[in-house]
Amino acid sequence: MKKISIVISVLAVSLFACTKDKNEVADLQQSELILNYLVDSYGFNSIDIQETETGFIVENDTEFPKENFWENYAKDAPSQLLFPAGPGVEERRHRKHSYLVTSGNPVVVNVRPGVPPSWVYAILTAISEWNALDGGLKFVFTSTDRNLWNAVNIVMDPTVPADKIALTMYPLSDGRPGNVMRINPAYNSMSSSRKKFSMVHELGHAIGFRHTDTYEGLPLFTSGSCANSSDPYSVMRSVVKDWSGFTSCDVYGFYTLYP
Ligand SMILES: [Zn+2]
Repeated sequence: MKKISIVISVLAVSLFACTKDKNEVADLQQSELILNYLVDSYGFNSIDIQETETGFIVENDTEFPKENFWENYAKDAPSQLLFPAGPGVEERRHRKHSYLVTSGNPVVVNVRPGVPPSWVYAILTAISEWNALDGGLKFVFTSTDRNLWNAVNIVMDPTVPADKIALTMYPLSDGRPGNVMRINPAYNSMSSSRKKFSMVHELGHAIGFRHTDTYEGLPLFTSGSCANSSDPYSVMRSVVKDWSGFTSCDVYGFYTLYP
C-alpha cells in the first residue's frame, strides 16, 4: 500500500511539473504574440516596450495589461503604421490612441482607498482643469472601495517601477476609458504642482492622448500650426514638470478628439 501511494505521489508531482512547464511555454508564446502585436499594429518601437509580470509598459507611463489583452486592445484596431514615424522636431505633434472613449460621458474617476489626500487633491484639480476646457468629454470624481467596470480606477501601487510616477491604461476597444491608473507611492512627496501636472497628463492617456514628444501613434492634426510645431509645454509631453496650464495645441487637441 505504501508503495502504491509513493508511486501515485511521484506521478502527481511529475504531472504537475509537466503542466507547469506547458503553462510557462504558453505564457512565453502569449507574451511574444502581444509584443509582436504592439509593434506591428500599434507601431511601438520594441526597444521602448518593457515587459512586467502582468503587462507591457510603453512610452514610459502607459501600460497594456496581459489579462484580456486581445479583447481589450486588438479588436479592429486601425493600423498606426499608416503614419510612419520619423525623427525631427516637426514630428513632435499631438497624437492619439486607436480607441477613444465612447462608453459614457462624463468619465468616472474612481479613487480607491489608500490614495493619500495630496494625490486626491491633485486628481480633483486635474478633473477641474479638464472640465474647465468645456470640451465634448467631462470627468466626474467618485471614491469607492471597489474597481468600477466603466471608470478610471486609481490605486496606489508600490510595484510600479521606481522610475515611473504612474502607469495608466489607454481606452479599451469597447470604448471604456483606460480602466486602471496605478500611482507609485515613492512619489508621495513630489510637489503639489507636479502631482497636478502628472494627474492631468495621466487622465489624458486614459481618454486616448499619447505623447507629443515621441514618434508613435496617430497624429491628431495633419495641417495647421499645431501639426508641425514643437510644443515644449504640452501637458502630454513625457516628462513631468510644474503645472502651468494647457498649451493652445493641447486645447485644440482636446476639442479635436472630443468635439
Ligand atoms: Zn505619459
